[in-house]
Amino acid sequence: MSAPHQARKRFGQNFLTDGGVIDSIVRAIDPRPGEAMVEIGPGLAAMTQPLVERLGHLTVIELDRDLAARLRKHPQLTVIESDVLKVDFASQLPTPLRVVGNLPYNISSPILFHLLPFADRVVDQHFMLQKEVVDRMAAGPGTKDYGRLTVMLQWRYDIEALFDVPPESFDPPPRVMSAIVRMTPWTKPAALDPALLEELVASAFSQRRKLLRHSLGRWLEARQFDGTFDLQRRAEEVPVAEFIALAQALQK
Ligand code: SAM
Repeated sequence: MSAPHQARKRFGQNFLTDGGVIDSIVRAIDPRPGEAMVEIGPGLAAMTQPLVERLGHLTVIELDRDLAARLRKHPQLTVIESDVLKVDFASQLPTPLRVVGNLPYNISSPILFHLLPFADRVVDQHFMLQKEVVDRMAAGPGTKDYGRLTVMLQWRYDIEALFDVPPESFDPPPRVMSAIVRMTPWTKPAALDPALLEELVASAFSQRRKLLRHSLGRWLEARQFDGTFDLQRRAEEVPVAEFIALAQALQK
């Protein structure tokens, strides 16, 4: 038996201990023998173990040196000891790839954005995140959760909020409710420059209570946009498809 591990707050360590939740997550992922999968932040291997039993082999990315050392003893695991934000998914991992993880909540958005450029290599992603973040990812227009994160991710992935996980399922318990999300990249995403979409969406949502003519009007003028776009709305009323169409029109 290894010595007990003291959870490190700076690494966002909240370890899953609820066997029922672990089973539900593994069932939602439905791993098949031989599939290439990577787990981000395996920690004490709560999900790693049932996943690798089904897959036969699993790659894991773990930043904590002590945890990485423990994981290296497992013969069916390939351990990348690194900050996931420094991992180049194109050169360091196989394609097509499935991605899973109970993510460190302090850097969950940077991880989602780090993965975005690799979406064409990915089959699907299943993550445990703060429920509030999952609500924003899966939101529809006209709701308070609909915003930058929604548009940037829904442009590239089909997003499904699967189920919630309460704090008591972890040790130590996080202060917030958690949820499992499935992200499946669209096979034929709208072709556009993500940096331009990001700029457009940031500008549109910069004053989300105001009409778009206040927030986005000047931004469009500066780009000499001569098409039509209804600016008598608030950003949260504009469907993702319309933001995409506008970004594409601006690229022409
Ligand atoms: N998967 C485990 C579980 O469900 O019990 C642990 C989840 S814990 C919320 C997050 C894990 O991510 C920890 O093992 C932590 O050390 C690791 N981690 C934190 N920051 C990381 C980073 N930048 N890159 C890779 N792993 C990281």
